Amino acid sequence: SESEFDVIVIGAGAAGMMCAWQAGLRGRRVLLIDHADEPGKKILISGGGRCNFTNLTAAPRNFLSANPHFCKSALARYTQNDFIDLVNRHGIAWHEKTLGQLFCDGSARQIVDMLVGECRDAGVDLRLGHTVTAIEKPDRFTVSTQKGPFTSDSLVLATGGLSIPKMGATGFAYDIARRFGLPIAQTRAGLVPLTFSEADLDFMRGLSGLSFDAVVSTGKTQFREAVLFTHRGLSGPAILQVSSYLPDGAAISVNLLPDRDAADFLLERKRERAKAETQTVLSELLPARLATGFAERFVPKRPVGEVADKALTVLGNTLNAWRIVPTGNEGYAKAEVTVGGIDTGALSSKTMAAKSVPGLYAVGEAVDVTGWLGGYNFQWAWSSGWAAGQDA
Ligand code: FAD
Repeated sequence: SESEFDVIVIGAGAAGMMCAWQAGLRGRRVLLIDHADEPGKKILISGGGRCNFTNLTAAPRNFLSANPHFCKSALARYTQNDFIDLVNRHGIAWHEKTLGQLFCDGSARQIVDMLVGECRDAGVDLRLGHTVTAIEKPDRFTVSTQKGPFTSDSLVLATGGLSIPKMGATGFAYDIARRFGLPIAQTRAGLVPLTFSEADLDFMRGLSGLSFDAVVSTGKTQFREAVLFTHRGLSGPAILQVSSYLPDGAAISVNLLPDRDAADFLLERKRERAKAETQTVLSELLPARLATGFAERFVPKRPVGEVADKALTVLGNTLNAWRIVPTGNEGYAKAEVTVGGIDTGALSSKTMAAKSVPGLYAVGEAVDVTGWLGGYNFQWAWSSGWAAGQDA
C-alpha cells in the first residue's frame, strides 16, 4: 500500500539522498521524508553556493571521532573518486580551488538536482513538509507524521547535526537514537569562529577584515591556512579547523610568520635598518595594518634601532607563537558542523546499522564522525549514506 515501505530514510540531505538512491537501486521500496519544503538545503548554501562536494585527498586522518578507525570502511567503499565519477557522469563542471577542495563551476543546485534526479529514477518516494511526530517499533518501524503513518523494515536516521538551527537543523537523530538505547557522544559546535575577552577584542576589532596566512595550533593539532580578524573575534579556515579540536578553556597559538624566526629577523633589521620604525620593518613580512597593530601593542613607537633587544625578542616570539585563550565560540548558529553525535560503538562501520536494533541505521553528520573544512563532511555524508544504502 501507499504507506508501506521497505526502507524509510528521514532527512533528505546529503547522506539521506545518497542512501535512499542506493537502496532504491537495489529494488527496495524507499520513502525519503523531510520536514523542510525542499531537499538538500545545506548543500545549496554550502561552499558559498558552489558546494565543496569532496576533497581529492580525503582520508581517515581528516576526520574526528571518538573512534578514529570507524570511518575507514565507508570511506574506502565509496571514495571521493566515486563521487567525482558521479558528478562527471552528470556533466557537472568543477574545479579544484585549493588544498584538494573541489567546487562546482556553476552552482550547488546542480548537486541537489543530480541527487534528486537519481532518487527519482531509482523509484524513491520523496515527500517534503512531513513532520515526524512519533516512531514506534512493535515489529516493523512505524513512523507517524502529521500527514499520516508509514511503516518499514528499515529506518535510516539522516537528519544531520545541530548547526544552523534557523535552517531547520534539529537534534532529532540524537533523540531517536537515545530512544532506541544508542549512546550519544557529547555534541559541540565545530568549524566555528572563536570569541575572545573584551581585552583581546579591543585589539582584534582594530584589525577587523584583515586576513593573513598562519599556522594555528592547539595541542598537537595544527593547520596552516588563512586567519581572519572579525568584530567578534577570529575566523578564517585555520581558526575553523582548530575550533573542532579545541577543548573548553584551551589556548590556541597563532604563528603569523611560519616561515621565519621573527625575533632573529627583527634583531637583524635593528642593525640593518636602524632608522626605520618597527612597524615599517615588520611590514616587509606582514600586511601593513597587521604589522602596525602588533608593533604598537608590543614595542614603543620608535626607530627599530632604539628599541631594546629584549622588547624586539618578545615581539618576535609573539609573532611566532601568539598565545590567546578563546572565551568560547559563536555556537551552532555559525558552526558548519556538529562534533560528536551517535556513538560509533553502537554502529557497524561497514553498514552503519545499529548493532542492537535490527533495521535501524544512522548516517551523515548525525554520527560521531566530523570532517575537516574542505569537502570532507560531504564525503562522509556520501560514503556513510552509500554504505547504509547497500544494506538497508
Ligand atoms: P544535512 O545535509 O544537514 O541534511 C539533514 C536533513 O534532515 C535536512 O534536509 C533537514 O531538513 C532534515 N531534518 C532535520 N531535522 C529533521 C526532522 N526533525 N524531521 C525531518 N527532517 C529533518 N561540508 C562540506 O563538505 N563542504 C562544504 O562546502 C560545506 N559547506 C557548508 C556550509 C555551511 C554554511 C554549513 C552549515 C555546512 C557546510 N558543510 C559543508 C557541512 C555539510 O553541509 C554537512 O556536514 C552535511 O550537509 C551533512 O549531511 P547530512 O545529510 O548528514 O545532513
